[in-house]
Amino acid sequence: MRFIELNIAILSYLWLKSHKRNVRDDTLTTSIFLFRQDLRLSDNIGLLEASRLGKVLPVYIYTKAEQSHIGSSSQLYLHYSLESLNRSLNNYLNIYQGDPLAIIARLVKQYKVTDVFWSRSYEPWKMAEDSAIKNKLTELQVDCHIINSSYLWEPKNIKNDTGSYYKIFTAYKRKASLFEPRKPVAAPTQLTLIHDEHNQTTLADLGLITHADWEKKIQQHWTFGELSALEKLEYFLTHHLKGYKKGRDYPAENQTSKLSVNLHFGEISPHQVWETAQRCRLFGASEEDIDHFLNELIWREFSCYLMTHFNQLPVENFQSKFDHFPWKKTKKLIDAWKTGQTGYPLIDAGMRELWETGYMHNRVRMVVASFLVKNLKIHWHIGRDWFWDCLVDADLANNSASWQWVAGCGVDAAPYFRIFNPTTQGEKFDDQGAYTKKFLPELKQLPDKYLFQPWMAPTHVLASSKIILGKTYPNPIVDLSTSRKEALEAYQKL
Ligand code: FAD
Repeated sequence: MRFIELNIAILSYLWLKSHKRNVRDDTLTTSIFLFRQDLRLSDNIGLLEASRLGKVLPVYIYTKAEQSHIGSSSQLYLHYSLESLNRSLNNYLNIYQGDPLAIIARLVKQYKVTDVFWSRSYEPWKMAEDSAIKNKLTELQVDCHIINSSYLWEPKNIKNDTGSYYKIFTAYKRKASLFEPRKPVAAPTQLTLIHDEHNQTTLADLGLITHADWEKKIQQHWTFGELSALEKLEYFLTHHLKGYKKGRDYPAENQTSKLSVNLHFGEISPHQVWETAQRCRLFGASEEDIDHFLNELIWREFSCYLMTHFNQLPVENFQSKFDHFPWKKTKKLIDAWKTGQTGYPLIDAGMRELWETGYMHNRVRMVVASFLVKNLKIHWHIGRDWFWDCLVDADLANNSASWQWVAGCGVDAAPYFRIFNPTTQGEKFDDQGAYTKKFLPELKQLPDKYLFQPWMAPTHVLASSKIILGKTYPNPIVDLSTSRKEALEAYQKL
């Protein structure tokens, strides 16, 4: 019963049928819909409004700026997501590469475009691109419609009592929760699409597939596109919402939604996720599991909110006193962390999960980040960049805010003295070792007692587990308690 109802809830957003109609009907006005981080047809208000006006040129532009900002893993994901979107549009997606102003100006002239619709961007560089496009269109006397379709609440609208912005998550959440998010809208029932015959660029021309090895891995671990995102949501709510509050911390449990990548590319909107999760209340799902899941979505909102109000979030310490922290630059330590060769099994499993799948479980993200910044004393920028390149869900707001949070230099950050211990974190959150052994097969035979501290295992145990420390698995690259003490001293000096 519950399953069927959920299914209907999701299907009610779906109307992925697009129609090719006689585009020579000159009585219809022509609009451009610019796809950006909203690669979907359902709950896409701009697309819906454009479809109601008349003919639509669906456009995706891979700009130079985009090219220089996207990580390798996300690039691969984007390829397949665009491929899926194009299929939903009956192959009518017009794909371009280059200067968005020149491309849009040409289309406006060629097709007598009256209106251009797109979903608002929040990354500082994209916002700059948005306003350049808007200025150009105003010059061309074309109407612009810029709509928020990526976040539940418009960041600029949530203010504290002094008219400034919130820096504490709970206070932000309390205020934002006073405003009910809008309900999702269905996909257009009818789309009269235009194919730009003067454009020769294809998806393959964007050159998004550059790493053949990674492509195979990403394809193996992910499914792409709107339909798959909606199915994933349904599967999560039906099978994994129960027990989410506790289970989300255990990497082997597979209890989280893995929707971060879909939300990042806008294959699903937060409104769809929010509304469908809320509906689970009607079917007896636990309030605390639902609330906890929605709370994570609000963290996503908060990250974007912070980046909107503090544009330097991706690059500058929110607390400037951290500018004086004595960071190390030791390449050997950085390489060991990146490749999962630190000698600390939970850290190494996490870093190898990242390399293998383009994803890492949230708890493990926190532990590996804390280890890099606090035990190794390497600048959070190094971790930020590595995550950026490897994560399929790499998201400027979430990645920057989370790194600052772990490093202790962000707003509402984890206090500097909170240093995750990778040994006790492993024992607590992966007590059976299923996650760690999955990504570190060389430790498979090590008894659980020593799994998170192989250097403590007696020689005969190592021998019977076929482990030679320093050869088949590394010795620890730093001593946990010494490095912790050094970090605390350095932080205290700030
Ligand atoms: P679920 O538990 O199912 O949560 C549902 C949704 O809520 C997620 O899809 C995500 O959109 C949002 N969410 C969950 N946790 C957080 C969080 N802590 N902060 C903000 N939003 C959250 N998330 C990204 O989307 N992109 C990143 O680049 C990114 N980098 C991170 C870097 C570090 C150092 C850390 C500690 C966390 C980072 N996160 C990032 C946040 C979090 O780890 C992921 O969003 C989460 O693991 C995604 O898995 P999920 O979809 O199964 O989450």
